[in-house]
Amino acid sequence: MAHYQILIVGGGAAGITAAAQLKRARPELELAILEPSQHHDYQPGWTLVGGGVFSLEETRRREVDLIPAGVTWIREGATSFDPASNSVTTSGGSRLSYDILVVAIGLKLRWDAIEGLPEALGSGGICSNYSRAMAAYTWECLQDFKGGTALFTCPPMPIKCPGAPQKIAYLADDLFKQRRIAAKVIYATATPGIFGVPTYAAPLREVVAQRGIEARYNHVLKAVRPASREAVFQVNEGDSSREEVIAYELLHVVPPMAAPDVVAQSELAAASGFVEVDKHTLQHLRFANVFSLGDVSGMPNSKTAAAVRGQAPVVTANILASLDQKAPVAAYDGYSCCPLITGYGKTIMAEFNYEQQPTPSFPLDPTKERWSMWWVKVKLLPSLYWNRMLTGAQHERRFMPWTR
Ligand SMILES: Cc1cc2nc3c(=O)[nH]c(=O)nc-3n(C[C@H](O)[C@H](O)[C@H](O)COP(=O)(O)OP(=O)(O)OC[C@H]3O[C@@H](n4cnc5c(N)ncnc54)[C@H](O)[C@@H]3O)c2cc1C
Repeated sequence: MAHYQILIVGGGAAGITAAAQLKRARPELELAILEPSQHHDYQPGWTLVGGGVFSLEETRRREVDLIPAGVTWIREGATSFDPASNSVTTSGGSRLSYDILVVAIGLKLRWDAIEGLPEALGSGGICSNYSRAMAAYTWECLQDFKGGTALFTCPPMPIKCPGAPQKIAYLADDLFKQRRIAAKVIYATATPGIFGVPTYAAPLREVVAQRGIEARYNHVLKAVRPASREAVFQVNEGDSSREEVIAYELLHVVPPMAAPDVVAQSELAAASGFVEVDKHTLQHLRFANVFSLGDVSGMPNSKTAAAVRGQAPVVTANILASLDQKAPVAAYDGYSCCPLITGYGKTIMAEFNYEQQPTPSFPLDPTKERWSMWWVKVKLLPSLYWNRMLTGAQHERRFMPWTR
């Protein structure tokens, strides 16, 4: 059984960033990443692929180019966790043991939870930015749209990037208006409001009202009927619920999400299925040598790559403290950021914490739609992601040094 001082399971946004920061802080650490994929995708770019701004190729890099120097890459996946014996089983049938484990395997997309969706996705106007294979088809659907109802759905929380289901609705609406296409744009969401953070929900309600977008709340997508181009919703009203069928010409679906089975079925899971960690220290509540960050972690923050920017320095500092036999020294405040694209050239940069308080990185009113924030989303953030975050160079969660 191979043994590592630190074993990071998952080499996505969270795993790579944590590995890079740990290696920069203490180059002598013996660190391995268990990750089966040959590529890493910049998922925040998929909204812009669907909106015709980015090419799909721009959002992908080779995993081998992202693994920090001096870190061992084990090209397999974890098939079980046994925290009582400090070991992980891999898809190749090996067992790996560790002093410290970092769980960062992201979350699972439940396409199968919507009847008819797996077979229908990718044709007949049914698209989704939540899959690399489908994001370009969204742009095809937007371009081919000749008029009628364009329907955009959002599942129950938690999901990754809770703003992304509506961003594509705003881009589509903007495009249809520019092209003078008669469209009824409907945003049907399982949530009771437009956005979970009140400070940003208020301007978004204005955006929806001004553009004539129809927002329908408490609408949970249950089935798609591609033959008749209908979407079937369960509409929750207090203690009761009813069925509503909405006919569409274009349907953008965001599937429900859950913790991956390998975590949900392990000792590491909380009741939610996600990794049961302290929401501030990111240390496991029952296994002190286990930490977690990113989408698979069970904190009540908004799951984004931006949240990883806030979490990675905390995990790094607390792992180093743990190796030195000390108590955790750093605390995560729930920071997350959702660049709410509200049209081509317009973005509300929603940054907030556990208390749902705005935590802006820029000395500007964060509730306003701005071209400058569109530029941040389209130009600055991808560059920061690839060149500063994944390389461990950005230890601060903020975009700009003046906010430190
Ligand atoms: C359409 C869309 C738009 C988004 N927009 C934004 C945005 O604007 N801003 C923002 O900040 N965030 C956004 N996000 C969210 C962001 O991409 C995620 O929150 C972020 O990638 C989480 O990082 P992670 O490392 O936890 O998961 P991931 O980056 O998904 O990485 C998980 C890794 O774990 C690996 N893995 C899976 N199972 C196993 C296993 N059993 N063993 C080992 N490895 C495994 C996977 O191969 C993968 O490499 C968006 C996401 C989507 C889909």
